[in-house]
Amino acid sequence: MTSSAAFETRAIHVGQEPDPVTGAVTVPIYQTSTYEQDGVGKHRGFEYSRTQNPTRQALERALAGLEQARHGFSFASGMAAEDAILRTLAPGDRVLMANDAYGGTFRLISKVWSRVGITWTALPFHDIAALDSAWPNDVKLVWMESPTNPLLNVFDITAISALAHAKGARVVVDNTFATPYLQQPMNMGADYVVHSVTKYLGGHSDVVGGFVATNDHELAADLGFVQNSAGAVPAPMDCFLLLRGIKTLAVRMDRHCENAAVIADFLLSHPRVSRVLYPGLESHPGYEIAQRQMLAPGGIVSFQMADGAEAAKAVAERTELFILAESLGAVESLIEHPGVMTHASVAGSPLQVPDDLVRLSVGIEHIDDLLADLKRALG
Ligand SMILES: *Cc1c(COP(=O)(O)O)cnc(C)c1O
Repeated sequence: MTSSAAFETRAIHVGQEPDPVTGAVTVPIYQTSTYEQDGVGKHRGFEYSRTQNPTRQALERALAGLEQARHGFSFASGMAAEDAILRTLAPGDRVLMANDAYGGTFRLISKVWSRVGITWTALPFHDIAALDSAWPNDVKLVWMESPTNPLLNVFDITAISALAHAKGARVVVDNTFATPYLQQPMNMGADYVVHSVTKYLGGHSDVVGGFVATNDHELAADLGFVQNSAGAVPAPMDCFLLLRGIKTLAVRMDRHCENAAVIADFLLSHPRVSRVLYPGLESHPGYEIAQRQMLAPGGIVSFQMADGAEAAKAVAERTELFILAESLGAVESLIEHPGVMTHASVAGSPLQVPDDLVRLSVGIEHIDDLLADLKRALG
């Protein structure tokens, strides 16, 4: 399998060659903690499953292939993946993040890593000139997402990466919302791409996991060292579920995006909705950048209710197909009230989420059923 094959083809074949021993077409679940050695210190590439596991190795190759990256490392959760990158820093290093960074990222940096001397600054990332003049001078790592959660802000990854590099900092892009199918930050200057594979890459709400990609051999060596030393690795069964999930990523994303665009238009014309946040709408401030750096605007749509917080909570409780739940990116549609459900845990976060906001993770059900459900819930 050459890396020049199209995305859909790579998603099914890279890292997932038939098993050389049995010919099994699907990568087996190597449910083993250790491996027989041929002699003392003579092994066949696998010694102990914290260090290497064939199912995990297949997943790491598959995901690195999708991000067009040389190296990939899988973790037990998206947060464990982020934590591994932060473990490569030293006391006194500063992380510069967008002021609407994912709540869990904000919490990990500001409440956990700050204990051992990592410092941080949160700034708006939409105005590059303003970001340039506000840049603190000890920034080691720039941490960004695009689109962001749950406000769907879109940032110029190429411009921010160029600025960061000019200032001597490295760039992490959390590509969870876009997925490598819609956006490839490695080709826009990112030094690391991080994922919660719990979301679209897994795609079926049945596994929690994380991933980091990089092209830099030194960063990769350090990440591999951290992965093995700290040991937050995924189990073989979880790797198998992810390998299964990513094979259909492209077709799922096409339908997620198609359904989300129709729903964004529907909400835009609804009298009880005061504002729709979706990067595919021309009214969205990040529309132009999204057109440039994404294949399509994604499957998440947020909106604000004209009658305030209680109305937003009521809508989130009244849908039937849209399941009231945290998380996103799976085949079934989900609805949530970020102010109470996912963003309450990150109190102190620099940017407050409006309490009349509802977030939809639009699934791949038939659009007519999804529209009917929202119409009924909006009354
Ligand atoms: C969910 C999520 C994470 C955290 O990943 P877990 O798998 O829940 O640990 C990080 N970033 C973004 C953008 C997410 O949506």
